[in-house]
Amino acid sequence: MTVSGGWTRLQPKLEATRRRVRSLESEPDRRNSFMPYTPERDSAYVDLDGQRLLMMSGYSYLGLSGDERVVAAAKAAMDVYGTGAHGVRALAGSLPLHEELEAEVARVAEREAALVFSSGYAANVGTVGALCGPGDTVFIDKYDHASIVDGCQLSGATVTRFRHNDPDHLDRRLRASDPSGVRLVIVDSVYSMDGDIAPLPELREVCDAHDALLMVDEAHALGVIGATGKGIEEHFGGSVRVDVKLGTLSKAIPATGGWVAGSAELIEHLRYQARPFLFSAALAPAQAGAALEALRILQREPERVAHVQRESARLRTILTEAGMRTGQSETAVIPLIAGSDERAYDYATACRKAGVIGLPVVSPAVPNTLARLRIAVTARHSTADIDVAAEAFLTAARQCRLIEA
Ligand code: PMP
Repeated sequence: MTVSGGWTRLQPKLEATRRRVRSLESEPDRRNSFMPYTPERDSAYVDLDGQRLLMMSGYSYLGLSGDERVVAAAKAAMDVYGTGAHGVRALAGSLPLHEELEAEVARVAEREAALVFSSGYAANVGTVGALCGPGDTVFIDKYDHASIVDGCQLSGATVTRFRHNDPDHLDRRLRASDPSGVRLVIVDSVYSMDGDIAPLPELREVCDAHDALLMVDEAHALGVIGATGKGIEEHFGGSVRVDVKLGTLSKAIPATGGWVAGSAELIEHLRYQARPFLFSAALAPAQAGAALEALRILQREPERVAHVQRESARLRTILTEAGMRTGQSETAVIPLIAGSDERAYDYATACRKAGVIGLPVVSPAVPNTLARLRIAVTARHSTADIDVAAEAFLTAARQCRLIEA
């Protein structure tokens, strides 16, 4: 077979990826990413190549993935609307179900209106691009999610980064920036790799001092922080408000999709200006039906939120008291810091052998000296499961010399 010049030019990129994958996953035993597993019904365990393992790297914070009420709602939506939304909302794809879902999102987010996108990624890219363009400035925390960073780049706005969770540095960045145009500050409510929380009251003060809008990404906050799981505003007592709230329907809410909530005026603007909303197919009916039911369960069953908060605090205490490095985590996301990328892979493999899945996060997602397993507690984990997980993580950590034997 002849290889075209086009492929020859691409070879260095393909080769670099192959080298990187081989260096970390040198043997089948060390395979830690993209492992296809089958979840057990009504349990936190999964089947991986015939081995029964406790999943500790899932995102279904409220334990609703597989919930029979959510599954029934997805099926009912398909019975009424079929499997696809058949196009973009503006032209062909808007269903009464989308409007019902948006009304429910607005209720949970305590805002006038909401808009749903096909993913959280699309919601971030679409929102940043609709609010900011050339001549405007976006200020992002160094650890903001990649979809925020990509949204900024696509928007054509000037992008300025400030140090992680450092409102004073944001203040200095705002002072030093071009005062004209829109100024938009974006933070994650809960940081997905560290499990720490943005300092909302201080950020709000700095934004107000500089006429800047404040937007939060609640992907890991909805269903997780705040007394009833409503996210960062509730976590800080409800008196500090953000201007734009955004999140995903793929974590605590067990579907796919993204959402933005805010004033009716803001949502109208996004409906007509956000490109991933205007030029990409609407949320599929089953996803919208599942998300709507899960949002209702979140409001009816706050004990799920309390369970996650209690058990994650307990697991974090057990692990840190035994000497594990868990960073600044205050939420269901707990990083188990191993050091280099290789050490994180070794630790993940040892954990799997000890009976738990904790997936590694390596560079460039985190610095090569702070590679880690990113674990998360969900409402699916019973108290006994958390004890099993703690024991397995510590046994593996002793084997890998992350803590003393
Ligand atoms: N924001 C944050 C903070 C996230 O962690 C993620 C997903 N990992 C997203 C946005 C994107 O959401 P989705 O998976 O729905 O595209």
